[in-house]
Amino acid sequence: MTLPPAPVTPTIDLDAPGASHGFLRLPHSRDDSAWGSVMIPIAVLRGGDGPAALLLGGSHGDEYEGPIALFDLARSLDPRALAGTVVIVPALNLPAFRAGTRTSPIDRGNLNRSFPGSPTGGVTQKIADYVTRALLPRADIVLDVHSGGRTLDFVPFAAAHLLPDKAQEARATAAVAAFAAPFSMQMLEIDAVGMLDTTAEAMGKCFVTTELGGGGTARAETAAIARRGVRNLLIHAGILNAAPDPAPTRWLDMPSGDCFTFAEDAGLLEPVVDLGAPVRAGRPVARIHRTDRTGLAPIELTAKLDGLLAARHFPGLVQQGDCAAVVAVPR
Ligand code: ZN
Repeated sequence: MTLPPAPVTPTIDLDAPGASHGFLRLPHSRDDSAWGSVMIPIAVLRGGDGPAALLLGGSHGDEYEGPIALFDLARSLDPRALAGTVVIVPALNLPAFRAGTRTSPIDRGNLNRSFPGSPTGGVTQKIADYVTRALLPRADIVLDVHSGGRTLDFVPFAAAHLLPDKAQEARATAAVAAFAAPFSMQMLEIDAVGMLDTTAEAMGKCFVTTELGGGGTARAETAAIARRGVRNLLIHAGILNAAPDPAPTRWLDMPSGDCFTFAEDAGLLEPVVDLGAPVRAGRPVARIHRTDRTGLAPIELTAKLDGLLAARHFPGLVQQGDCAAVVAVPR
């Protein structure tokens, strides 16, 4: 089956030399603009011959380290210092980014569950389709900067996945090390269907993702980690000719689904350990206090593995089914 052409039009020539700043224009006909468009900012910085990097932020609209680092990089990177090309989309799911929400207010689409996308789907599916068919094929190395958003908080890490192609896995792992976040993760996904990660990896790309914090905001520390990491990655890829800014990193593994602790009850969440702290199998990581009446004992949520607390539910109240804690195992 031949797919119809992507409905997205770049307003700049993606192959032009030097620095180009423009938009991915996606028609969006709606009540307040009959022939309106979603205008997703994009920058292309092309220097001499060399590999191409695709740097994405804002796949989820309530994660801020990626947009901070990538708007900054798009403004400050000098194409004359590049051997290759850097394509930067700092706020990929623009409608979600504008609304400060994980999913799009237009179609409730979760961009990182919408891949490979569709040219005939909703706005979010169309963005995914353009990335899959127009942007990914141009890239040798792909970075998608995530954080926890409003409902999760993470120790800051860059991550690669276990892959069937061990040479591809080794390239991604080396790129994660070069990013030099405080933690580096061999990551297990609980919900990999429809992810950009899976699509890019299936195309053979060197793919790096991150979780750099969360809670629906950025911190000075995590913004600095993102800024340093994206530059280090471009230097590692041989695209940016500059001195890397290395930093110690601690490798973590997620050996199985036992890393995750889900809440089976709603209530008031009391953390028992903080992010980065050691945890022991069978020992509590959090308590859920029931708030419908007094006199009830709290419910203990326990770790299933020895390790450290890599992520936690962020809001003070927890719902049934929420991911309450993630334990990762230091190497
Ligand atoms: Zn995310």
